[in-house]
Amino acid sequence: MKLKIKKGDTVIVLSGRDKGKKGKVLEAFPKSGNLIIERVNVVKRHLKPNRSFAGGIIEKALPLNICKAMLVCPKCHEPTRVKLSDAGRACKRCGEIVDKVK
Ligand SMILES: [Zn+2]
Repeated sequence: MKLKIKKGDTVIVLSGRDKGKKGKVLEAFPKSGNLIIERVNVVKRHLKPNRSFAGGIIEKALPLNICKAMLVCPKCHEPTRVKLSDAGRACKRCGEIVDKVK
């Protein structure tokens, strides 16, 4: 499956608790269609201390499905749908090629 959103992209969240938030994609999982987005879907985990960790609260970003996120075009800075073409991924608003096919 070819993902329309990749690691390093900036996306906006379309639904859920973090609706309207923008963040950078830290990780993309093509098999599940999930994304880990910076500061989005963050949960706090209380951890007990162990040998290598003093314990406390850590923040962890949970995966968000790609259908709940939209790419923010690096050129026109608007949330956009992605057009896949032979040249690469393109912004449907301004036509800018977001990245080239390697
Ligand atoms: Zn654009």
